[in-house]
Amino acid sequence: MHRLDLQAKLAILADAAKYDASCASSGSVRRDSRGGQGVGSTDQGMGICHAYAPDGRCISLLKILLTNSCIFDCAYCINRKSSNVRRARFTAEEVVRLTLAFYKRNYIEGLFLSSGIIRSSNYTMEQIVEVARSLREDHDFRGYLHLKTIPDADPELVRLAGVHADRVSINVELPTVGGLTRLAPEKDARQIEGAMADMGASIADAGEAARKFKSAPKFAPAGQSTQMIVGADAATDRDIVGKASSLYDRFGLRRVYYSAFSPIPDASAVLPLKRPPLMREHRIYQADWLMRFYGFAAAEVQDAADDQGMLPLDLDPKLACALKFRDSFPVDVNRAPKEMLLRVPGLGTKAVDHILSSRRHRRLRLDDVARLTLSVAKVRPFITTIDWRPTLLTDRADLRALVAPKQQQLELFAA
Ligand code: SF4
Repeated sequence: MHRLDLQAKLAILADAAKYDASCASSGSVRRDSRGGQGVGSTDQGMGICHAYAPDGRCISLLKILLTNSCIFDCAYCINRKSSNVRRARFTAEEVVRLTLAFYKRNYIEGLFLSSGIIRSSNYTMEQIVEVARSLREDHDFRGYLHLKTIPDADPELVRLAGVHADRVSINVELPTVGGLTRLAPEKDARQIEGAMADMGASIADAGEAARKFKSAPKFAPAGQSTQMIVGADAATDRDIVGKASSLYDRFGLRRVYYSAFSPIPDASAVLPLKRPPLMREHRIYQADWLMRFYGFAAAEVQDAADDQGMLPLDLDPKLACALKFRDSFPVDVNRAPKEMLLRVPGLGTKAVDHILSSRRHRRLRLDDVARLTLSVAKVRPFITTIDWRPTLLTDRADLRALVAPKQQQLELFAA
């Protein structure tokens, strides 16, 4: 095989890593000043992506695969065995060298490393662990490390990943066992969850030890995360929300990332031809947010789905829940408990905290609430204040149309 230089490998293996959403930043059209025109760039260059550290800081990571060769044939994956893509492979030493070089030039604050499976799961995991070990032990690297682990690798190797990494992740890939069996027949849902359970237990033990002993060794202090693909199989939003909630509850995951399936070149015939609307991914992220920060039970969010199990695309899931459970509204902002205020569409967690602290000193008016929200029109039907009471607004048949965001005409010739 033609030998590739480091630059060529980086181009292939950074591009191959972009399908992993675990540290995604997306949305805007990128601008850059390559070619000597203009000043500044929002595109960080080959393999560098933004991610959020546990303390909320946005950090730049070198995001690459060790190799895009793989002995597995997961239908949704561009790197699968039967895919006709250009292959490349870094040695562990090359990844260490690249990471240190980028780090010293201040391009990155850490490394996100994943890999296709070469030879065997254990061999691949050994290579990933070797990169992390060498960075930490040989070079005293103090930057951020996020390692993908391979669920059927030897548990001791997976544990070693946690010893060196800040965050580890094991991809659950698809929300249902049926979907996984159909699209990734070499993967085993029980094995994936078993590895997550072991990792969750080790992280919890280390956390417990750290609370008792200052000198306790760190173990994946930024926790574990996973990724689920949306729209590659027949799983509904209801399935996805239920699966995510169960993963959070059972394994103490820090994050579940959702990635809208995007059709790949030479796609397998079992895959859909079209990608799902990006808005679907967005609504699922909002539903996830409701469960993690607003105290919603999975069943509550699932009840906002339609008969086909899908969340509405034109409404955020919190508004959809409120419309579904109108009987619980309006809530009195001067008396309602925190959990009810958190269910009012248009009131975020900061607004609710503000209401709770303000109402200790005085009774709130509609204007006070209006100052805490982007759209008082969205909030008004669902609350009462000392000077506002909606007149049977929640009974109106057209309430949905009244509070739903207005559709915007897209610009035909927008860049
Ligand atoms: S094991 Fe990972 S890299 Fe290999 S085909 Fe499956 S998803 Fe792709």
